[in-house]
Amino acid sequence: MARAARLLLRSCPLCGSEWVARCEREALAQPHENVAVRCGSCGTWRRVLTNRWAADAYERGLERDRGRMAGMLERFDRDQMARAARLFSAALERDLVDAGDFAVARPGYARADH
Ligand SMILES: [Zn+2]
Repeated sequence: MARAARLLLRSCPLCGSEWVARCEREALAQPHENVAVRCGSCGTWRRVLTNRWAADAYERGLERDRGRMAGMLERFDRDQMARAARLFSAALERDLVDAGDFAVARPGYARADH
């Protein structure tokens, strides 16, 4: 696929953002296709006339991007959990929190500290 055609699908001509997502794909007379894309930065919608191979390559690129984003989110979640565990552990070591901080206040329930 020519660089210019890739740029039409992957970037916004108005704001230059590369946060462009495919919203709809319409098959026309072979091998042409219309791909509706939306810019995530400025919200502009547009249709790009391309061919089936270019649209397929674009789809594969989007799938790779989704995989990378899912991996980044998973690493972010794991880092956040590790950070929360470290903070909680430090709070326990300094007696800033104890089991009483997590007790549910319900009438009729016996509490060890009363
Ligand atoms: Zn844009």
